[in-house]
Amino acid sequence: MGRRRLRIAGTVQGVGFRPYLHRLALSLSLTGTAGNDDEGVWCEIQGRRADLDEFEARVAVEAPPLARVDSVLSADVAAVEGERDFLLAPSTPGSDTVTGTVPPDVAACPACLAEVADPGGRRYRYAFTCCTDCGPRYTVVRSLPYDRERTSMAAFELCEACEAEYRDPADRRHHAQAVCCADCGPALSLESVSGEPFAGDPISEAAALLREGRIVAVKGLGGYQLACRADDSAAVARLRRRKHREEKPFALLVASIAAASELVQLDDLAERALTGPEAPIVLAPRRESAAVAVEVAPDTRLLGVMLPATPMHTLLAAETGLTLVCTSGNRSDEPIVTDDARVSDELGDIADAALRHNRLIERRADDSVGHVVHGGFQLLRRARGYAPGTVRLDRDGPAVLAVGAELKSTVCLALGADAHMSVHLGDLEHPAALGAFETAVADMLALTRATPELLVHDLHPEYLSTKFAASADLAPRLGVQHHHAHLASCLTDAGFRGPAIGVMFDGMGWGPDGTLWGGEILVGDAGGYERSAHLRPVHMPGGTAAIRQPWRMALAHLHEAFGTDLPPIPALSGREADVVQVLDQCRPSQSILTTSMGRLFDTVAALCGIAGTTTYEGQAAIRLEQAAGPDVRRYPVEISANTPTVIEFSPLVEAVTADLLAGRQPSVISSALHRWVADVAVASAQHAREMSGLATVALSGGVFQNRRLMQLLVPDLEQAGFEVLRHRQVPPNDGGIALGQAAVGRATLSGRG
Ligand code: ZN
Ligand code: ZN
Ligand code: FE
Repeated sequence: MGRRRLRIAGTVQGVGFRPYLHRLALSLSLTGTAGNDDEGVWCEIQGRRADLDEFEARVAVEAPPLARVDSVLSADVAAVEGERDFLLAPSTPGSDTVTGTVPPDVAACPACLAEVADPGGRRYRYAFTCCTDCGPRYTVVRSLPYDRERTSMAAFELCEACEAEYRDPADRRHHAQAVCCADCGPALSLESVSGEPFAGDPISEAAALLREGRIVAVKGLGGYQLACRADDSAAVARLRRRKHREEKPFALLVASIAAASELVQLDDLAERALTGPEAPIVLAPRRESAAVAVEVAPDTRLLGVMLPATPMHTLLAAETGLTLVCTSGNRSDEPIVTDDARVSDELGDIADAALRHNRLIERRADDSVGHVVHGGFQLLRRARGYAPGTVRLDRDGPAVLAVGAELKSTVCLALGADAHMSVHLGDLEHPAALGAFETAVADMLALTRATPELLVHDLHPEYLSTKFAASADLAPRLGVQHHHAHLASCLTDAGFRGPAIGVMFDGMGWGPDGTLWGGEILVGDAGGYERSAHLRPVHMPGGTAAIRQPWRMALAHLHEAFGTDLPPIPALSGREADVVQVLDQCRPSQSILTTSMGRLFDTVAALCGIAGTTTYEGQAAIRLEQAAGPDVRRYPVEISANTPTVIEFSPLVEAVTADLLAGRQPSVISSALHRWVADVAVASAQHAREMSGLATVALSGGVFQNRRLMQLLVPDLEQAGFEVLRHRQVPPNDGGIALGQAAVGRATLSGRG
């Protein structure tokens, strides 16, 4: 007989770990006790030596699906006389609070879905079925520690049967905070948007409306969604018109992985992502045979597909028997509606009915989005299922709060050895998103009870996050250059301390020289950087108007390459009246300069006649990527020997122009542009390697959402002998900026210390 004390670190709280220890101990006839504290989970086990060894061998391997065991330490301790049971020590308020982790929401697990489908069971067709392994978390939490009385489930008193499950350590629902059933839990209703209830079963009636081509607002986990049948052009077009969303792709909801693979081509990684507990939207190439209206995603051959995240979605998808458009419940790009009282105001003239329920959404969380690119799953929007959730840092350090950028806003708090990432908060220019941002900051500090020693923000003076930092009297402030933050984000994401060569290709970020950067090769780490190379600067005629009107950028790049003697590009004919004005704006006093790689994509898209003006961020680049044909043509790469090195775009613009005048197709020009960007990146990285001796390349910035570019560049860099670091846990776009800012903040504090 012996007794052992185990300390288990990792993601082990709020994931059913203690009940799991209880089951494992009972199966081996061990007695003892287990509890939570600020460092994770501890337990003491007592019994035969062989059984103790077996417990230790199995504890990490058989951990619950949502757990992530980072380490197990064990030590023999003195046996306790007369112990008969394995007991769970109650979690003391304050213990979970120290680590401050609200777990993310988890998609319905197979066991729960089986119960929902079982006509003989007491949870048959119950839309809110969940257990320790699944169900809502973040979106129902009011405060920590995560216990039912501090969630929006507090309004629902457990019935006897649910209470028994909740209390029974051997039950799958032991301490599942959102446990409920039709007798005691939330209930669905189908209503007109003005609140008139429909008769009949809400799911069946909603499914009937959807089959008829109606638009139904659906109360999801982190906010309302809008659904309609995806094969009905008229329905999808109506949704676009009413929602004021012209061309930005819609996501699709399907009942099963089998249904998903009828729509899109999925490899193992994509399937794993789709069926994972996070249930994200996964972008994948559509099949020719997919019965999906062209209006769903007019710009791209990719479709964003997701599986049901809740039993309600499962029931709805199964009952319609259709692929459904399932997009955020909002007007245009505003934050999704979470407040039931706002539904008729915000969605009243979009939806024909609302499928809703009486459990409050405490916190907003959009659906997450990602794709598989060159052998890795990469997030593009980190929200429901992934966030809040932490990214592991390589060491402890002081509390640092980072407020991110402007678009795709997230905030990050470095605390101990974890970076706590908020959900995707949206574009701060929307007042409601700014409100969500301010709430996220307050929340993060309240939930963790942290006092930041440093508040990190972008250098851009006009970002609302920068203005927030300036006015919030939280901590001393540090402004971090946008692409330095991108670099630090990628290094932190990859768990690499650096230094490295950073290929930062992006839309735009404020540079310390007062120009807008975005085609940068930086060498450094979180502690600092040098600008090794950049694209030749070009004017942005009309300022931000040039972002929505790529033809302006095209004229600016042509002007640089050809002077005032502009070639007769077919796609720009009809713009003659604008040319004089735009060229007049290409002067130092009239416009700001940019080295943005994203704007160069815009230019080539405009020159090809693919996107003269755009209706959503990134549209020109998406269309250009989609146009790309076989990789057969190369454009000249010219890199100056200055310091920093200047990447010339004029040879590219001249070559594109010559191809257009020779009648070459956008498919040829687009593929050559992608090849050129990869060539430029490799050549610049090689130059940086010669100067620095470094052979690790980090890829970050919005341009690396481009699948085509990643597929060309990653193998090229590896071929050239580089180790390539890419984003895995946070997006390469500005959704990952806050993580990098926090890392730079940490490095700055430790440098000072
Ligand atoms: Zn479950
Ligand atoms: Zn119940
Ligand atoms: Fe950026």
